[in-house]
Amino acid sequence: MSQSSEVATGPRSGLYTRLCSNWLFPLQERLKGHDSVALRRRLEASQWWSAEALAEQQAHRLRDFLLSIGQRVPYYQQLFAQAAFEPRGLQSVRDLQALPLLDKRSIRAHSAQMLAHGHGPLARYSTGGSSGEPLVFWIGKARKSHDVAAKWRATRWWGVDIGDPELVVWGSPIELRAQDRLKRLRDGLLRSHLLPAFGVSEATLDHFIASIQRRRPAMLFGYPSSLAQIAGRARQRSVDLSGLGIRVVFVTGELLYAAQRVLLQEVFGCPVANGYGARDAGFIAHECPAGSLHVCAEDIVLEVLRADGQPAAPGELGELVVTHLGTADFPFLRYRTGDMGALSPYACACGRGLPVLADVQGKSNHFVVAENGAVLPASALTYILRDMPQLVQYQIHQRARDHTVVRLVADTLDAHSHSRIVRDFQARLGAGVQIEVQRVEQIEVVPSGKHRFVLSELDAFAAPGGEARHA
Ligand SMILES: [Zn+2]
Repeated sequence: MSQSSEVATGPRSGLYTRLCSNWLFPLQERLKGHDSVALRRRLEASQWWSAEALAEQQAHRLRDFLLSIGQRVPYYQQLFAQAAFEPRGLQSVRDLQALPLLDKRSIRAHSAQMLAHGHGPLARYSTGGSSGEPLVFWIGKARKSHDVAAKWRATRWWGVDIGDPELVVWGSPIELRAQDRLKRLRDGLLRSHLLPAFGVSEATLDHFIASIQRRRPAMLFGYPSSLAQIAGRARQRSVDLSGLGIRVVFVTGELLYAAQRVLLQEVFGCPVANGYGARDAGFIAHECPAGSLHVCAEDIVLEVLRADGQPAAPGELGELVVTHLGTADFPFLRYRTGDMGALSPYACACGRGLPVLADVQGKSNHFVVAENGAVLPASALTYILRDMPQLVQYQIHQRARDHTVVRLVADTLDAHSHSRIVRDFQARLGAGVQIEVQRVEQIEVVPSGKHRFVLSELDAFAAPGGEARHA
């Protein structure tokens, strides 16, 4: 692969990019009280350590983290006492099994007791509006620095750096609210430009395409569905964006489908780098040029747990549970992401010792209800569609127990595929369920700009899905 040999030498950056990466951005980080510059340098060294050395450092940091929160966080003082858990005795990540999992509900219930005594300045965050489980939490400077450093490291894996012209297609209301004058000035200096991913009309997509042509960014960043819509529109209009010099497309926030990856690669003429993380759980894993999703193991302890709570074997699917070691001010300890995934048994060809996430399958707490009342994970249906190579996007909309609409954005949909979808959906939901397959131009996004893969109007969804899973 020519790309990997190219980026192995580090970012090919111009003078202005070096100014940003070496001076402007570090200065901003210092003013914010972040030590992300030093952290990034450390991460760029430790990524080449052996898996064993990384695991040893992780266990060491985990012990320090647990000692800190056991002393400073009332919720964990109490919990450790109840469980007779002694952080000092921790030998490996497996010892975390003695502690309960943390979900959004427990954070909501104990938010005040989860703040550490003597914590530094904290920023308030909220998330989950689109998943129906809102969450308010706090982020301290240590965590912010670690997240910035981890994202920065992964950016540089691809031969680009902070300061290279970037176009961001994003719709999070938080990002938009933060668009005050100072942030616009900073983004302007760092050559990062935001296109709000709200409207999905053809006019908006054409405006996005014109922006990309005019600005000739070195990198694109956004939801896979938003960027795929832009790419699909460019292809439809035969607009060539492959020669603009875009070096990489970073996608995150949703599952990336194989067809989306191919579309983005072809239209923008560059590789696609997938990222997995969330505002609450943190920056968990990022794809390297050799194609592996590397877990940011220096800061993130990732457990993959089977339904019985036991650790899954390498390659075995389970729920992804995260401990973020930079969160001692407001701990995320064994936090349930609600996503399903598996760790790879194999090391990556790039030589980094960071663990590899083999598979991320999205929210486990999306359910559908079969004709007979059985509650099924939405993946029972999404699997059927994910095999279709021509599919760019889809949405499954359960309107009633006996009526489900399947909306597809696809280049083609032949009669064979159509009848296969109906047959496979009925096999899972019930033979009497009407399966209405619609080929559509686009799929509406929720107000945050995020794409919902599964919608249901059934009562079973009124309760938060995370709990239903254990019913
Ligand atoms: Zn790799």
